Amino acid sequence: MELLLATGNAHKVAELRAMLTPLGVRVLTPDEVGGLPEVEEDGATFGANAAKKAVSAASHAGRWALADDSGLCVDALDGAPGIHSARYAGTHGDDAGNNAKLLRELAGVEDANRGAAFVCALVLASPEGEVAATFEERTRGRILHAEEGQGGFGYDPLFLFTEPDLPQTGRCFATLDQDEKGAVSHRGRALRALAKALPQLQER
Ligand code: IMP
Repeated sequence: MELLLATGNAHKVAELRAMLTPLGVRVLTPDEVGGLPEVEEDGATFGANAAKKAVSAASHAGRWALADDSGLCVDALDGAPGIHSARYAGTHGDDAGNNAKLLRELAGVEDANRGAAFVCALVLASPEGEVAATFEERTRGRILHAEEGQGGFGYDPLFLFTEPDLPQTGRCFATLDQDEKGAVSHRGRALRALAKALPQLQER
């Protein structure tokens, strides 16, 4: 199966490709289909934004398309930055600015109240431009007081994985390699749910 990834984010492409290739899925990037139209991410939820991106890409290219919309929801900030994660500090994709703002917003907040979740919605759209399936998964953690590690992207250097009894428990996402992160991440979990459903979806 060929799947067009409706994202220009190189980090997301790398993570999704690493997880989809072993499943026999050939991943196409927007560049490989001559580019995709810009989509305004004005939905109220991760799922709505992912659906908008997947449907637009699938209709444009006449192919199966997969879109990811994801972000960080911090308990003490009533779920912020949430769907605004990419542009929390103002400019889209300013990871350093976003992390600095998050640390400022949580200044003085103790560990017990620094709980957070990464959330990922994956939407698969058919070549006819219809939503074929939606998967939403999350990963629980806690926001650190300072950045740690060199790997990953976005808020990874501030996200300590806290779900119990796993090899990654107590480790910051930016210290994990791609496989270690994918095994417990919001994106990895959503993708495994998609992988399970793929054979049936292809038959339709
Ligand atoms: P999107 O491209 O609109 O879905 O924005 C997603 C934003 O959420 C990214 O720019 C990151 O700031 C954040 N994000 C999503 N997934 C991750 C992750 O796996 N690690 C760190 N940050 C993430």
